[in-house]
Parts: sequence; C-alpha cells; structure tokens
Amino acid sequence: MAIAVVNPATGITEREFAAHTAAEVEERLAQAQAAFEQLKATSFAQRGDWMRAGAELLESETDSLAAMITREMGKPIAASRAEVLKCAKVMRYYADHAQEFLADEPLDDPSAVNASRAVGRYQPLGVVLAVMPWNYPLWQVMRFAAPALMAGNTGVLKHASNVPESALFLQELFERAGFPVGAFVTLLIGSGEVAAVIEDPRIRAVTLTGSEPAGRSVASTAAAQVKKAVLELGGSDPFIVMPSADLDAAVATAVTARTLNNGQSCIAAKRFIVHTEVYDRFVEAFTAAMAALTMGDPMDETVQVGPVATRSGRDELAELVDDARARGAQILTGGEVPAGEGWFYPPTVVAEVRPGMRLHLEEAFGPVATVYRVADLDEALAIANGTDFGLSSAAWTQDPEEQRRFAEELEAGAVFLNGMTISYPELPFGGIKNSGYGRELAAAGIREFCNLKTVWQA
Ligand code: NAP
Repeated sequence: MAIAVVNPATGITEREFAAHTAAEVEERLAQAQAAFEQLKATSFAQRGDWMRAGAELLESETDSLAAMITREMGKPIAASRAEVLKCAKVMRYYADHAQEFLADEPLDDPSAVNASRAVGRYQPLGVVLAVMPWNYPLWQVMRFAAPALMAGNTGVLKHASNVPESALFLQELFERAGFPVGAFVTLLIGSGEVAAVIEDPRIRAVTLTGSEPAGRSVASTAAAQVKKAVLELGGSDPFIVMPSADLDAAVATAVTARTLNNGQSCIAAKRFIVHTEVYDRFVEAFTAAMAALTMGDPMDETVQVGPVATRSGRDELAELVDDARARGAQILTGGEVPAGEGWFYPPTVVAEVRPGMRLHLEEAFGPVATVYRVADLDEALAIANGTDFGLSSAAWTQDPEEQRRFAEELEAGAVFLNGMTISYPELPFGGIKNSGYGRELAAAGIREFCNLKTVWQA
C-alpha cells in the first residue's frame, strides 16, 4: 500500500511519501534504544511535565490538526477536533496518575515468604513497537504512547499507510514537548516490513490495533521471538433493546453509536438486537433517524456522516450489503453506492439478516446497521454472543435482573448499560475472543509494558 494522503472525500492523492530506507529505520531504532536509557532514568515529575507540554500543544493547535485528520481519513471535522482534545486529556491523565499506578506494591506480611521485605516493582520494558490503524489517527496512538512514555518506555510507531501526516506529526509532538529525541519515533514502512522490526532485538514488545488478520500476523511473529504482544482487534458489538428501555433515548444513542466516525470504530454498535415487543417502534424510528443524517463533505460543520476512509473499505462494505440483499435480507434504508467523487456510503439499515450472510458474521466497518428481532433475553444473549468477536456491548433495560444478566453473561471486554460504548482514560479497554487480548487505558494500560519485578529481601 502506498504511503500517501488520499482525501477520501474526493479520491484525490494529495501527498505521497517515500518509505524509509533500511538505513533510516536503523537510525530510528538506534535513537529509540538510546532514548530509553535516558528516559528510564528520568522522574515521573519530569516526564509528566513533558506530557503536559504535549497536551498544551495539542490544545493550541486543535483546528489545524483536526483539518489534517479529516483530510487524511474523512471523519467530520467536529469529531476530529474532539479526537485531538481527547488525546490531550489522556496525556494529562497519565501525567497525573502514572506514579500512583506504578508505585511499589509491598507485601503486607513479608514473614509469610520468609522475608523482611517483599515488594512488587514496576519497571519499563524498553522500546515498544506500535502498529496502528487510521480510524482515530491520533487517539489510537496516544492511548498507547501516553502511558508507555510515562512508564519510561520509548515508542516506535508504524502507522497505517494512509495517515502519514498524522504519523510524522506524533514524533514531532513528543520532541517539541521536550522528550529526548528518540523517545517516540515514526517509521514510514509498509506492513511487509513489520516482522523484521519485531525481530530486532531492541524491540521488547509490540502492540497492534487493527484487523484480525494483521493481529494474527504480528502476534505470531512476536510469539516466535518470545516478545509480549497486546492486540486490539475488530468487533461486531451488539446493542440490545428490551421492552423496559427508554426507547427515544435508545434510538438516538443507537444512531450515534453506529455512525460515529463514519461508522468506522471498533467499538461502534453494529448489531441491533431488539425485543419483539418494541421491535417495530424501534426499527421504524431508528431507520428514519439514520435516513435523516446529512452525508457529505466532512469539512462542512453541518455534515454528520463523511466518506469511508479508503476505496477498498467502501467497496468491502458495499459487498457485505449486496451479499445480504442477494440472500434475502431487507434493506430498510441506504444500501446503494452514491454517484459522484469520494468513497461515500450512506447510513444503511438491514433487517432479516440470517446465518450464511457475510453481514451476519463479519464486521461492517462503515455506517451499516443490522437489526434482529428476538423473543426474549435468552435469545438476545444467544445472538449477541454468537460471534467470534468480543470487544464491547450495550444493553438497554430498566429491569435490574436483566441488567444483572447482561453484565454477567455478555461475552465482551465491556458492557455498557443504558448507554453506548465510549473509551475513557479512566476505564480499562480491550476485548476477548478474536477481538484480542491485553488492556489499554486506566491502570491496567500502563502496566502492560512493564516488568513487575519481585524484590525479596532476607
Ligand atoms: P489493518 O488493515 O489491520 O491495519 C492496521 C495496521 O496494521 C496498519 O498500520 C497496517 O499497515 C498494519 N498491518 C496490516 N496488515 C499487517 C500485517 N500483516 N502485518 C503487520 N502489520 C499489518 O486495519 P485497518 O483496516 O486499518 O483498521 C480497521 C480494523 O481495526 C477494524 O477491524 C477495527 O475494528 C480495528 N480496530 C480495533 C480497535 C480496538 O481497539 N480493538 C480500534 C480501532 C480499530 P498498512 O496501513 O501499511 O497496511
């Protein structure tokens, strides 16, 4: 895949970049290794000051950075601004909390292990490779980089090939914020070069956010090298609506949960599983609201849905819907590629989806919702859990017993009751099953790339 900015709203290639040569990759890995020796010797206070300086840069340059994101991957400009500010938030969060999250953990009763003192101590691992996707070109990286650097690790980024400006900006950001040169470096390389980087002895661990095939590939290389991997992969999150739900709120939230980021979010609600008592009312209102969304130029402040980020992504989405239609599914709104430039696909609602249709099992990465009618809670759980993914989930009900069962029985890394899945710096984030393993954010996220060293003293 060429390393280039191709504006998805127009299809025009605006800027191309040469891939880094082997010598340029070597230079950056050497810088990252040297910076690790420096960074691990600095205090939390010092790293926190640099991190806060980076947050201030993001806040003062929000508008130009938002325009960069929208031009590279097509999300509505207001969403790009929100992404930049969320990055600043996670930087401040780890600046404020890293020391507390990585504080020594002394054993209350060291005599139980025949010691005068026994302590768990968190230490950074070294240089960590991050392979990242384009859908949140700054946020996906920052939720790794902020905790990793606060822990004293250094980061090497291989970003998606269609967001090179974001990729290069991130290296520049940490340098301008005051971090040692090499604390965070960007490699402009194709996915075919990733294995060799993982195999480099200076790389101690790898994190990948992206598709399942990419995750399998990266994790198997890491495993062969006995290096830790964290995988944040795809999802096909259920959004369940039971009879006691506040239906107006559920519909409004469902539309946002499906179309946020032009529908290209791993934690977007993708399958809407609705109790038969409220199915007709929910589906009618949901379909009308999806059809009423404004699609168009994502730089236009009034536009709610922009283009899909790549032509191949748009074509793949259209194929999923066409396959379902050909096998008897009902298209309630949308479902046709519009004429004109850019990689647009309209908000689409598909009913009567059945096993055997690709849309039933595969992740729809764009504004395409499937709706399922269920007779009761058990059937809702069976459909919700009947997928290889297990990223997040949402359930709408006022009934305490139903809430308990959903929280207990949904097979996912998170359950949101009467709301939609959102990532917060304060909440652990990650999946189970084919959605990956490991956690980002919160205390768990900063500990992923640390050695929890046991110190025992006689
Ligand atoms: P992708 O094709 O897997 O790309 C993600 C990153 O992996 C890119 O940097 C890509 O580089 C690289 N890559 C692709 N194949 C690789 C391979 N075999 N070996 C090493 N690196 C490889 O995913 P995408 O289409 O950009 O992103 C969409 C997917 O990401 C969806 O499935 C979505 O659900 C998932 N996602 C998950 C999360 C989460 O937190 N769980 C968050 C966001 C997105 P190139 O660009 O050069 O190919």
